[in-house]
Amino acid sequence: MKTASTANLPLFIRMHDNDNVAIVVNDGGLPAGATFSCGLVLREAVPQGHKIALRALAEGEQILRYNVTIGYAVRDIAEGSWIEESLVRMPPARELINLPIATRIAPKTDPLEGYTFQGFRNADGSVGTRNILAITTTVQCVAGVVEHAVKRIKEELLPNYPNVDDVIGLEHSYGCGVAIDAPNAMIPIRTVRNISLNPNFGGQAMVVSLGCEKLQPTRLFPKGSIPIQNGGDPVVVCLQDQQHVGFESMITSIMQTAKQQLATLNRRQRETCPASELVVGVQCGGSDAFSGVTANPAVGFATDLLVRAGATVMFSEVTEVRDGIDQLTSRAANADVAEAMIREMEWYDNYLKRGGVDRSANTTPGNKKGGLSNIVEKAMGSIVKSGSSTITGVLAPGEKLTQKGLIYAATPASDFICGTLQLAAGMNMHVFTTGRGTPYGLAAVPVVKVATRNELARRWHDLMDVNAGRIASGEASIEDIGWELFHLMLAVASGKKTWAEHWKLHNALVLFNPAPIT
Ligand code: CA
Repeated sequence: MKTASTANLPLFIRMHDNDNVAIVVNDGGLPAGATFSCGLVLREAVPQGHKIALRALAEGEQILRYNVTIGYAVRDIAEGSWIEESLVRMPPARELINLPIATRIAPKTDPLEGYTFQGFRNADGSVGTRNILAITTTVQCVAGVVEHAVKRIKEELLPNYPNVDDVIGLEHSYGCGVAIDAPNAMIPIRTVRNISLNPNFGGQAMVVSLGCEKLQPTRLFPKGSIPIQNGGDPVVVCLQDQQHVGFESMITSIMQTAKQQLATLNRRQRETCPASELVVGVQCGGSDAFSGVTANPAVGFATDLLVRAGATVMFSEVTEVRDGIDQLTSRAANADVAEAMIREMEWYDNYLKRGGVDRSANTTPGNKKGGLSNIVEKAMGSIVKSGSSTITGVLAPGEKLTQKGLIYAATPASDFICGTLQLAAGMNMHVFTTGRGTPYGLAAVPVVKVATRNELARRWHDLMDVNAGRIASGEASIEDIGWELFHLMLAVASGKKTWAEHWKLHNALVLFNPAPIT
């Protein structure tokens, strides 16, 4: 372990012995002439997180990071040079044929026993980490009314129900003006349905509908969708009902219905639950070159701990794992799981192609500023969030989990859409890594944010929950941060507030709608 006195010496991190590039660790980058302990001298100034050539590279030669070809040298590159984005030619995507199927046996590990948290157990067996009244909407038209009602409910009713944490409106842009019979319309529809059944909402569903919308409540919740309530039907307030005369009568109806729901939710009590009841969605946003060095490997370590404890972990973001498909299919529990992953990747390849782009549309200006040259490099750093366990299941976008273990939940990489789809799958805890920094949060589940760099963790000290930057500076190991995150997840699941919850920061639900709009 390096001491603080060495922290300012020029440092790079090489991910694999075969790599011919490494990234600069030091905050603020390094000047030309900086000399590393191995004798390598920088030929030019290199920003933090950016790649340097560890040896001379010939034009067309493979650029290796993570022992993976992340690109080819556009021209000859001298040792000690900054390998900035324009010097890297991106390789084509791996074809989805002849992939290794279930070839890798996961390292044998003992079950992790004895870890618990205080959660809200639901009648269907799922466990919530928060106790929230959620008001589902069938169409965007009602959003303003619901927002107004939620404010009133929080001010006038919620204080009387001390066991209920919050009241939220599940607002979205779907419901009307859409081709609701298009085959892909099932994705946004099942997403709204399954979010309404998230474990943090206690298995109840209260719906505010307009009345004339395409997404009728009976279509959103076919008979029996809500097993424990009202004979399987949601409780619905319809704004166009004749009984509503004026705005105030709509608000009164919503508040009266909410009162009954709050009374039921208020009877929920936290009880001791095994860690196996955690359902964790992991994702990254605002990634940099450290994402794959510090935060994501620490999340991967915690993922393995959770899987050993019998819990469920979902990793997602199709374009950020697409270039590592061979790693994933080889880790599949069986051929069915591998084929389901290939099917999801193929569907997404075609979805992007219809829009006239490919997976390279993923990287952002911030990613590139943070040192990530292309989606291949980004994906290699992103995929490590999945740890090393066997992948036991695959979900299509908007589907609900039916099993435990390590699950590939296919979603876009967009932070809000990924989070929304993981909510629909049934997550009760979200772990989010960031290098550039984002104040991301969700109203429905706690979001634990992990910073990839010390500098970000210092600047955003009251927004980041875990600082994985200490791995790069040598103050902590991947295992240390992985365990810290694991323990923090149990505390947060038991009610400890994350920074996003402290400041009440949350982003909108954003549905994935690959179907046409009318
Ligand atoms: Ca993301």
